[in-house]
Amino acid sequence: MSKGTPSMGKRQKQTHIRCRRCGRHSYHKSKAVCASCGFGKTARMRGYRWAKKNRRMTD
Ligand SMILES: [Zn+2]
Repeated sequence: MSKGTPSMGKRQKQTHIRCRRCGRHSYHKSKAVCASCGFGKTARMRGYRWAKKNRRMTD
């Protein structure tokens, strides 16, 4: 597979669409789960300690 112009026409399937909760383009269309905030999977916001984005500084 090449990376140039011929492969540009191959982008028709969209796995992720815009998430209703976090607004990110991370909502899996067929799994109905957001990869970013966990919408569809959990009622709480998805988040991990090792992911330090938007965390209040505790240390
Ligand atoms: Zn989301």
